[in-house]
Amino acid sequence: MKFKYFIHGLVMFSFVFIAQAQTPKTASVAPRPKIIVGMMVDQMRWDYLYRFQDRYTEGGFKRLVREGFSCENTLIDYSPTITACGHTCVYTGSVPAVHGIVGNGWYERAMGKEVGCVDDASVNLVGATQGGTGQSPHNNLSTTITDQLRIASNFQSKTVGVAIKDRASILPAGHAATAAFWYNGQDGNFVTSTYYMQELPEWAKRFNEKKVVDSYYKNDWNTLYPISTYTLSTADDKPYENTSNGEAKPVFPRNLKQFIGKNYGAVRTTPYGNTLTFDFAKAAIEGYNLGGGKFTDFLAVSFSSPDAIGHTYGPNSIEVEDNYLRLDKELADFFTYLDKRFGKGNYLYFITADHGVSESPGFYLENKMPSGAILDTDFSKAVTEGLKEKYGVEKPVLSFANYQLYMNWEAFDKKGINRSDVGRTIKEILLKAPGIANVLENEGLGTAPIPEHIRSMLIKGYNIKRSGDYVVIPQPTWKGGNVRGATHGTWYPYDAHIPLVWMGWKIQPGHTNRVTGMADIAPTLAALLRIQMPSGAIGEPINEITGGR
Ligand SMILES: [Zn+2]
Repeated sequence: MKFKYFIHGLVMFSFVFIAQAQTPKTASVAPRPKIIVGMMVDQMRWDYLYRFQDRYTEGGFKRLVREGFSCENTLIDYSPTITACGHTCVYTGSVPAVHGIVGNGWYERAMGKEVGCVDDASVNLVGATQGGTGQSPHNNLSTTITDQLRIASNFQSKTVGVAIKDRASILPAGHAATAAFWYNGQDGNFVTSTYYMQELPEWAKRFNEKKVVDSYYKNDWNTLYPISTYTLSTADDKPYENTSNGEAKPVFPRNLKQFIGKNYGAVRTTPYGNTLTFDFAKAAIEGYNLGGGKFTDFLAVSFSSPDAIGHTYGPNSIEVEDNYLRLDKELADFFTYLDKRFGKGNYLYFITADHGVSESPGFYLENKMPSGAILDTDFSKAVTEGLKEKYGVEKPVLSFANYQLYMNWEAFDKKGINRSDVGRTIKEILLKAPGIANVLENEGLGTAPIPEHIRSMLIKGYNIKRSGDYVVIPQPTWKGGNVRGATHGTWYPYDAHIPLVWMGWKIQPGHTNRVTGMADIAPTLAALLRIQMPSGAIGEPINEITGGR
């Protein structure tokens, strides 16, 4: 009897012990977060998380890596690695082959013209001093995770998109979005379209009336620290930097006072574009009382200025370093704001990017690395002239977009010209051009003699209705246009390796170096929230995040 009690006591004791050990963990995590904040930084390559860490604050990127879970090897699943494709992939868990957003724009064969990814002639702009054609997500063929959240709550969850670029707000916010807002450089207003509403909400009107951009302009743009301390970047004035906003040289300080009341577009190519986005995002949280209701809300916010700054001055410029030092500080403030408003652990936050970026060709060349510029005009001229001469076809190529050639097959067919013969000629012409690694027929990608990883990315990026007929692959580190500035769009790791860090609700600190995909983000969110994944999703939940083993 005594013995039995003893055993019983032991069992009881261990039960209590386990219960005590587990209770705080389970009790502190709500079944659903109050809000999900999905943040995308346009052109943020993975290494930027760490590159300037000596001067990052404790509360910004360092806090993310310390308190969050970092998927260190997150790669974009497809090529071309372009803004609209990236935003759509993150939110659909899918790729251009399925969701149809094959670029920021493409040649629409049925219409016989180039179209912008979110342009929609059936809607009008709302909130701009001068109206005009509006934008909508109608070209995205898949639902988004934000749509699925709306469906799962019978549309009681609110989903809102905010960004300077229209596409970076519209595509993440989803088809059934509560709202999407973007910045109109003409008048400095955040605007939307009749797709979402007929009139801006009062809080948005009040925000626009303040013209906060003018107050940022008052501070000009000087470096956050003395310029001599920017030792991780090149000298301020390099011949391979571009200029912006009418400046004579790409150097500090920038006189922004001159733009007060005059030029609201100039803010895009300064770090104040981030400040503006944070300010409007907070206004949207408060205006819609996001995270304050019974259902989980979703704020999808994207930062477009890092892309504009990176394209202009290149990743090794003081301008880019200063942008990230400032973004880090503002991120720290934003986390403090979220902690205060929702409580630590009650919001789920993730940060990622739509694509990375290459170094500037001029920078590579200066440092003895292989690079160069593929002059768009030269190579498109070479193809056009070459095909004209050989086949007597007046307009052989309808469009050059997203590293692809849209062929005027109708004209070739009329003359009874064999298509594969044309393809061989295109290859002959282009492979002679400097900096071009390969030219592949999109329809033949399945058997193309190229490494499986690249083939897979190209196939996932190819949409039979909207993509071109041939895809041109530049050599690594080569860039379209000239040697100045920097760009992205290829399969190469500098374009495809992006940060992905999760923090907050249900997230245990840690990291993985296992390869994860951009398309895994939406399925991971679906698994965490226990809602259906988007209609076109091909990614998989990231087990380290969802807790599955
Ligand atoms: Zn870009």
